[in-house]
Amino acid sequence: MKFNPVIEHLKTYEPGKPIELVVREFGIDPSEIVKLASNENPYGCTPKAVEAVKRCADLMYRYPDDTMDELKRGLAERFGVEKSNLVIGAGSDQIIEFACRAKLYGGAKILQSEITFAMYQIYAAQSGANILRAPGIAHDLDAIFSLYKEHDPDMIFICAPNNPTGDCLDRVDVENFIDEIDRDTLVVLDGAYQEYASYKDPAKAVDPAALVAKFPHLLYLGTFSKAYGLGGMRIGYGIADESIIKALYKLRPPFNVTTLSLVAATEALKDEEFVKNSLKSCFEEMRRYEAFAENFGIKTIDSYTNFITLILDGVADSSRLCDALLRRGIIVRDLKGYGMNAVRITIGKPDENSRFFEVAGQLLESGEI
Ligand SMILES: *Cc1c(COP(=O)(O)O)cnc(C)c1O
Repeated sequence: MKFNPVIEHLKTYEPGKPIELVVREFGIDPSEIVKLASNENPYGCTPKAVEAVKRCADLMYRYPDDTMDELKRGLAERFGVEKSNLVIGAGSDQIIEFACRAKLYGGAKILQSEITFAMYQIYAAQSGANILRAPGIAHDLDAIFSLYKEHDPDMIFICAPNNPTGDCLDRVDVENFIDEIDRDTLVVLDGAYQEYASYKDPAKAVDPAALVAKFPHLLYLGTFSKAYGLGGMRIGYGIADESIIKALYKLRPPFNVTTLSLVAATEALKDEEFVKNSLKSCFEEMRRYEAFAENFGIKTIDSYTNFITLILDGVADSSRLCDALLRRGIIVRDLKGYGMNAVRITIGKPDENSRFFEVAGQLLESGEI
């Protein structure tokens, strides 16, 4: 069967391997599997969200409140914006999809960093757009800007902090960059890990309200999947000038977010203490990864997220290491597909990290990988 030619060359996004697959393929007991591959919060989510979901479970026969008023009020208060500046999606992924469909068409252009979140180019390609990639492992704003000048793209993606590398631009640099871009180019600022970055270094903390007030061409993205621990609920948000929100709303299917996801996110947003404790543990444990890497002569990228990227050049082969870890029940992310001999490891709980150090340490010492 023939399909739309634009989808012919599309790559399917490869998510981190689920625990169930490792159980099936290697017969490992689920309780022994350590999953450090999808940047989930190892502490889960606030128990208040779980309680609220249980209380609301008998509402699942009804369609959700499509105004999403309660969550919008929570977000509006948190960020100091109006409800009309907000759109809520099934993950911030869905907002990326709306934005690409709103702005792109066959032959349009997006500009992004070479090594960044894979969904930008996937959604852009679905719209028939071409992808311009600025070189560099970390976001190089000068390189991005010079491609912008040369090619006049329709859309630019900035991921701060960046996934899968963990580096993060400073707020002032992001702001100056956006200011330099013409108002007809949509700039998407993906803040999926902003909670982590602003906890580690206030100079990285962007203020979506201030940006949106100043820049009518900016779309800021946030998610409940990472620091809030709601990856399984699929809920995220976009903050932008009303004119952008209105365009995205035209593409939004009705009831795109479930009742239980809305309830969970509303509760999660209230429990700042839970998030703060998760952030604290993340960066304490990250020091153990830095020490581990140093011990084995492995380079790391200074991370402002809940994961750390180990660059294995001269030490090991990333695919072989990931494979060997998987057979022992430890799931991490191989970055070969991004052209890097590196692995991305989500910072887990202390005992999960200890298990990683033990097994990865043995593998590296064996010299077989
Ligand atoms: C995880 C992630 C997202 C979105 O996740 P959702 O679960 O769809 O909300 C967006 N951008 C980056 C960089 C991410 O790592």
